[in-house]
Amino acid sequence: MSRVYNFSAGPSMLPLAVLEQAQKEMLDMGGSGQSVMEMSHRSKEYQAIIDEAEALLREIMNIPDNYKVLFLQGGASTQFAMVPLNLAVKNKKADYVITGQWAKKAHQEAGRFIEANAIASSADKTFSYLPKVDKSMLTPDADYVHITYNNTIYGTHYNTMPDFGDKIVVTDMSSCILSEEVDISKFGLIYAGAQKNMGPAGVTVVIVREDLIGEALDITPTMLKYSTHADNGSMYNTPPTYGIYICKLVYEWIKNMGGIAAIHEINVKKAKILYDFLDSSKMFKGTVVPEDRSLMNVPFVTDSDELNAKFIAEAKAKGFINLKGHRTVGGMRASIYNAMPVEGVEALVAFMKEFEANN
Ligand SMILES: *Cc1c(COP(=O)(O)O)cnc(C)c1O
Repeated sequence: MSRVYNFSAGPSMLPLAVLEQAQKEMLDMGGSGQSVMEMSHRSKEYQAIIDEAEALLREIMNIPDNYKVLFLQGGASTQFAMVPLNLAVKNKKADYVITGQWAKKAHQEAGRFIEANAIASSADKTFSYLPKVDKSMLTPDADYVHITYNNTIYGTHYNTMPDFGDKIVVTDMSSCILSEEVDISKFGLIYAGAQKNMGPAGVTVVIVREDLIGEALDITPTMLKYSTHADNGSMYNTPPTYGIYICKLVYEWIKNMGGIAAIHEINVKKAKILYDFLDSSKMFKGTVVPEDRSLMNVPFVTDSDELNAKFIAEAKAKGFINLKGHRTVGGMRASIYNAMPVEGVEALVAFMKEFEANN
C-alpha cells in the first residue's frame, strides 16, 4: 500500500488510525453483524454511536452544558441561510466581516432574508490580511455579528479574537475546528463542515447556545430550524449515519493523541516548519501578513506562473498532491490539517528546497 501526502483543502486527509479502525469494523460493527452503513438510525446500536460522538466532542472541545451539539447535513453553505433565519429574529439585522469567498457567500445569503451589513472587508488586498474590527464598528441593533474564523482559501486566521463586547458572535470554523482550543462561551453559535478537519463530507456540526434556539423567521422551512434538530437529538430525519461514525473515530483519535491542546502544539510545529522555510526562501513566498497566518491553510507563490505549474506537477509526481492554490489566488496552497503528520510537512519542505536549488 502506498499513500500520498494529501494537501487538499477539503475533503482532506483523515488519520490513518481512523481509516484502519473503520476498515476493521466495516463488515461487523461491534458484534452487531452489520456495517454502520446498514444500521437503522433508530436502533440502539446506532444511538450508542451518535451519543458517543456527541459526548466525545463535548469532552475534547470542552463544550458548556448550555450549548447544543447538532449533527446536520447540507454543509457549511446551508448554515449561511440557517444562521440568519434562526438568529436574526429580533431586528432582522446582522453584521458580517468580509474576509474571503466563504464570508462573502455567508453575507450574500443572509442578505436574501435580512439586512446584512458588511462592516469591514479585506477585499482590497485579495484577503491577505484580516481587517481590524471591534465593537465600535457594530450596528447597535444587529442580532449578531458573523466572522469566518479561518479563511480556508486565503490562509488567514483570527490569532486574537476581536472584542465585540456582548454582541452575539457567530463563526464559521469549518477549516480550524479541533485544531486549537477555543473558549466556546465567547460564541453564540459555531458551525463547521466536517470534511476539512473532522471527518468525511456530508456532516455539518453546529454548536449553539440553547437560548438562541426556538424562534425563527416565519418563512423558515422545518428542516432549516435549529429547534427541529435540537428537539430530536439530530434525528428528526435520517442523519448522515456513517459520516457521524467516522467523526466519532476522529474525536477518539484526538483524545488518544492527548486532546486538542496536544494537537495544537503539533499544528504549531508543522506550520512553523513551512512558514520558516517560506520566510527564508528566495523562490517561494507566503501570501499572508505574518500576524494573521493560519496554521491550517498555507498559501504561497513563486514570481512566475510557469514555475508554479512546474512545481505543482513535480510535487504531484513525488506524492505531494493537491497543492494547487484556489483559482482566485493562483500559486500554491498547502492545507496541513490535524491528520497531516509532521513528516509530511518536513518532506514537502525538503522537496521545495530541492526544487529551489534545481530551478
Ligand atoms: C469549505 C468551507 C465552506 C463550504 O463548506 P461546504 O461544506 O462545502 O458547504 C464554508 N466555509 C469555510 C470556511 C470552508 O472552508
